[in-house]
Amino acid sequence: MKAIRTFTVRPVLAEALAPLDRLAANWRWSWSRATHALFASMDPALWEHIGQNPARMLGALGQDRLDELAHDEGFVQRVREEDERLTAYLEGDRWFQRLEGDKPAHIAYFSPEFGVDGSLPQYSGGLGILAGDHLKSASDLGVPLTGVGLFYRAGYFRQSIGDDGWQRESYPLLDPYGLGLTLLRDGEGSPVEISLDLPGDRVLHARVWVADIGRVPLLLLDSETPSNSDEMRRVTDRLYGGGGEHRLLQELLLGVGGVRAVRAWCALTARPAPDVYHTNEGHAGFQGLERMSELITQDGLGFDDALAQVRAGTVFTTHTPVPAGIDRFPRDLIADYLASGLFEGLDAGRAIALGLESWSGGDPGVFNMAVLGLHLGQHANGVSVLHGEVSRGMFGMLWPGVDVDEVPITSITNGVHAPTWVHPALKALSEQAWGDAHTDTHDWNDRSAVSDAELWGVRQQMKAALVSEARRRVAASLSNGHAPAWIDDLLDPEVLTIGFARRVPTYKRLTLMLRDPERLTALLTDPERPVQIVIGGKSHPADDSGKILIQQLVRFSRDPKVRGRIVFLPDYDIGLAKDLYPGCDVWLNNPLRPLEACGTSGMKAALNGALNLSILDGWWDEWYDGRNGWAIPTADTATSDEERDDAEASALYDLIEHQLVPRFYEREGGVPVAWLDMVRHTMTDLGQKATSDRMVRDYVQRLYVPAAAHDVALRRDGFAGAKALAAFVARVTDAWPHVSIASVDSSGIPAQAQAGDSLEVTAAVRLDGLSPDDVAVELAYGRTDEDDTLARDHSVQRLQPAAAPVDGVTTFTGTLPLAVTGTFGYTVRVVPAHPQLVSPVELGLVTSPS
Ligand SMILES: *Cc1c(COP(=O)(O)O)cnc(C)c1O
Repeated sequence: MKAIRTFTVRPVLAEALAPLDRLAANWRWSWSRATHALFASMDPALWEHIGQNPARMLGALGQDRLDELAHDEGFVQRVREEDERLTAYLEGDRWFQRLEGDKPAHIAYFSPEFGVDGSLPQYSGGLGILAGDHLKSASDLGVPLTGVGLFYRAGYFRQSIGDDGWQRESYPLLDPYGLGLTLLRDGEGSPVEISLDLPGDRVLHARVWVADIGRVPLLLLDSETPSNSDEMRRVTDRLYGGGGEHRLLQELLLGVGGVRAVRAWCALTARPAPDVYHTNEGHAGFQGLERMSELITQDGLGFDDALAQVRAGTVFTTHTPVPAGIDRFPRDLIADYLASGLFEGLDAGRAIALGLESWSGGDPGVFNMAVLGLHLGQHANGVSVLHGEVSRGMFGMLWPGVDVDEVPITSITNGVHAPTWVHPALKALSEQAWGDAHTDTHDWNDRSAVSDAELWGVRQQMKAALVSEARRRVAASLSNGHAPAWIDDLLDPEVLTIGFARRVPTYKRLTLMLRDPERLTALLTDPERPVQIVIGGKSHPADDSGKILIQQLVRFSRDPKVRGRIVFLPDYDIGLAKDLYPGCDVWLNNPLRPLEACGTSGMKAALNGALNLSILDGWWDEWYDGRNGWAIPTADTATSDEERDDAEASALYDLIEHQLVPRFYEREGGVPVAWLDMVRHTMTDLGQKATSDRMVRDYVQRLYVPAAAHDVALRRDGFAGAKALAAFVARVTDAWPHVSIASVDSSGIPAQAQAGDSLEVTAAVRLDGLSPDDVAVELAYGRTDEDDTLARDHSVQRLQPAAAPVDGVTTFTGTLPLAVTGTFGYTVRVVPAHPQLVSPVELGLVTSPS
């Protein structure tokens, strides 16, 4: 008989073991090796069996074993030590506390998925893992941040592969209590419930689970509550389960419900209200409309004032240059929801306009969550330098008339949480050399700290662990349950091992390596210097084209000729990833450039000493330096997709055959010395750059601190600043069509200008009722190219008003030193000037000489 509901009954812990409850309830155990080891040691086999989770472990152990452990003095001592370490971790001052200057009081970080640990499968891929790593680094750095997401009862699916090679999905249900989450309750002990009024007299209710991620709380809204109708209970059933309206309901719950949950949380825990709201991708965009509605109904602000206030404190991170990766809803569907009274006081027509694709060539019948995100967030970024550039191009139409370089979207390159992703064996080696310091400054190039033999020994150990894990997984996945003899020949720790695992959208080109099967087979089966490939990846359940790619790979890998050298491991998730990255010599990534916004698996591999072999896309475009791996050249001149794939695959085979293989198999005393040089360089250089500690510090300093300052400045004195900014925006927007540059004069250029000369520049500007303080008249100057375009690194100087206006024309002047030599040029432009603008062009108002 099948139970209709299951839950975990917790045993009673003896006093000596009582701290285990607290240790199990804080997800720091997942990146603290000692706490992790403590729980695993209670019963190693059971630990594996229950999926490595302390709360589940405590539920599964049984009273007898617990009683036994309560009398084991060594164990009790370790419990006490871990408890003390957790306290010290939660209380001590960290990087953020030592940061000088004005700082944000509280950051609310919204994401549709969070990949914190394999036992909490609330993620589908990179976006979620990144969010999990963001929380962990925020915790390690002491940043006062709260995560906001949804609790999906089945999370993302588990994958198995049928005998036909076709992906199968299953959706095991999760028990939040049994995983170590806590239900948020009010002062009286009743569960806090969030409600949203929806059209058709429906109400969506949700409860809130709290997961403690070190010092950072993560609030997860869950529609599985008795107050809900069956329809509403299904809202948080699965991550990215349904389309259309189901997705919209999830996003309304995340955005609107998320803000309400944060309010309840702050009230119950006496935390300050957030002064920064960070939305990880557009899915949580409705949070901005909810905050506007609060400001309108509770503080009496007008629509524009509220918009200015919300924008000031909002950070929006875009994650995809693939249009299919952006949520788009029919305008009419959104209109129905906005008419329902969900956002009290908010002018529905104007609110909808914030998300419409209303530029020329856009589809004004479509409501686009990225557009909403950019309109509601004054601080926006992409996730690598290249992706920032691509995003400025992609969203440039929202700032017509603005040079693409100046579109106000910056970039912060992603990073990964080293304590989570560095293999314990490698971590032990670094502790032996440099102690326990949580730093990203180890110099792995120092052979006196770690010898080649030691480093190679650990690399080989990690590879051997992957090989046995792969054999175990493949055996377990065979339908008859009997491991055939060939399993013992599956993979070989002595062979050059290439890893490739990721979600399977088309642009990631899972099957590029199959382009020339004969050539691949030759590489795999070379009798002297073979290569082996380990692959993983899930296709979105609704994406049959992805499933076909998986099937092609699985079929190829089952051919007895290559079977021992190429394997597809099902159910790629955090657990598999943690075995995979450290166990590979090379991490392969071959997306269609520039569609990989950043990519983070290669960073995780690099921190474990794998070398990257990748298309110059995302982070690799930025940090590939010729010594940390190989760049697969992009066939930019190809005239068709086929031709490009052929060319890039062929370049891939060439690199493997002529670069990787010889270097890997060249040995001195059994050790590949030249290879290890690259490994050492990779670990040293990327160990500093590729961490989420670096990333979170960048977010704090470049986006959170300014956003909090803007929020506070506008909020002060009854929102005086917000009202003034809104009035300013209205005034300049109105006047701008009539602002013009009447003339620009320069004097003092001798016939032969030479370095050290200077130039007086005068611009006569018609301001049409604006005051000289409302605008900045900017002189841009620098080297020019053959089309007279100013170099990107040109300088900008503000000209000053010289006299009172005459006939509506104001004269601005300035002196320009001719400091650079060569072809030189300058130009003048007028833009709005206000201290609370992040970028001079953010209003899309720019006047140049006609
Ligand atoms: C890191 C990670 C990803 C993201 O990897 P990309 O390189 O961005 O494709 C996806 N899934 C898992 C399980 C990961 O650990």
